[in-house]
Amino acid sequence: MPTGSKSKKLVNSERLWNDLMSIGELTQKDQPYTRRAFTPMFAQGREWLRTKFVEAGFEVSQDAAGNLIGKIPGTTAGAGTIMVGSHSDTVPSGGRFDGVAGVIAALEIGRVIKENGIKFKHDIELVDFLAEEPNVYGLSCVGSRGITGNLSSESLAFTEPGGEKLSEAIKRVGGDPERISDAKRSDIKAFFELHIEQGPILEREKIEIGLVTAIVGIRRIEIVFNGEADHAGTTPMDLRRDAAVALAETIVFIRKIAEEFAVIGLGHFVATVGVVEVQPNAMNVVPQSARLVIDARSESRELLDRFVEEVTRSAATAAESYRVSCDGPKILSDSIPSICDNDLRILLGNCAKDLGLTTRELASGAGHDAAFLSRVAPAAMVFVPCLRGKSHAPEEWAEPTALAAGANVVTEAMIRFDAI
Ligand SMILES: [Zn+2]
Repeated sequence: MPTGSKSKKLVNSERLWNDLMSIGELTQKDQPYTRRAFTPMFAQGREWLRTKFVEAGFEVSQDAAGNLIGKIPGTTAGAGTIMVGSHSDTVPSGGRFDGVAGVIAALEIGRVIKENGIKFKHDIELVDFLAEEPNVYGLSCVGSRGITGNLSSESLAFTEPGGEKLSEAIKRVGGDPERISDAKRSDIKAFFELHIEQGPILEREKIEIGLVTAIVGIRRIEIVFNGEADHAGTTPMDLRRDAAVALAETIVFIRKIAEEFAVIGLGHFVATVGVVEVQPNAMNVVPQSARLVIDARSESRELLDRFVEEVTRSAATAAESYRVSCDGPKILSDSIPSICDNDLRILLGNCAKDLGLTTRELASGAGHDAAFLSRVAPAAMVFVPCLRGKSHAPEEWAEPTALAAGANVVTEAMIRFDAI
């Protein structure tokens, strides 16, 4: 932080870092860094966090959806809540930063507020959302769904392979699934989430703070080509109905159209074909059928719609060229993009600038708790750079100064938001 900067109430960078490393040690020893939701290791992490919240002087509670909340009451009744947080659970063999960096930043922000005696009109809540990552019950963002009224009774009935229902698991970690509607909030005036970028852009451009414009919508699309299995040696080329060739042409088209869409100025767009299946998958047989699944992500629904139209056209042309039939595209799943709040993003940008930090806007290609929060409240995200853009891996890394810078920006934005 440059000396002589105007404000500001700055976080204790060393304390933030030490806490982050301490909770990182709470991992399955044979599989660093693993603290999956609902496991005993997760419970240990939660207990560690609860103790820190209590030591910091927050009012600690757990809501019906199993979110751990530290509260600093505001001075004005009915002013509503400024919420800041993320998630402390990890993927298997994950890192020490994804999610938990935002939780520890929230802890540190709360401590700075308490230690400096900063009075807020709004209640301040520092939150560890339950089970953001995919888990054995088959539902991610459990806590942020709950707090926004998006945890249905069907979802609560999801069952893990051992037979335990999600509702039972929520109860086990201290939630109250019978009264899940109590978790739904309507008093949140602003939500902030600090997170590592999980991509390479900030590092590559040497930018300190990423201001998130939107969290992408994800559309998964299936296409199946059906041709005819024939002898690979005796069937002349002009008589073949080879499903794999139509598939190959479609993949190349998807790559090209995605490259075009990425630069036409309508925001983040990426598309990946990560699933390819050929039948009968034998080296001496002309492929009879070929299936691909596309994962397309964008902050623009319009772009996703246009993408599906283009792929439909291209797949039909490819099918015709190689005399095969085409099933699809079939939409397997479709989540809507979540737009981050414009005013909060501008506020964060101004705070960063006043703290002497460089910024750029970018979309998030990964999902976050903020996506659900944005449905019920103005929500904003701050990204900090991470090494080589790596995440969901033990090598995940962010610098102490980068994390402190992000936490300082959020602190300052909370102070200014409260004063509006
Ligand atoms: Zn995360």
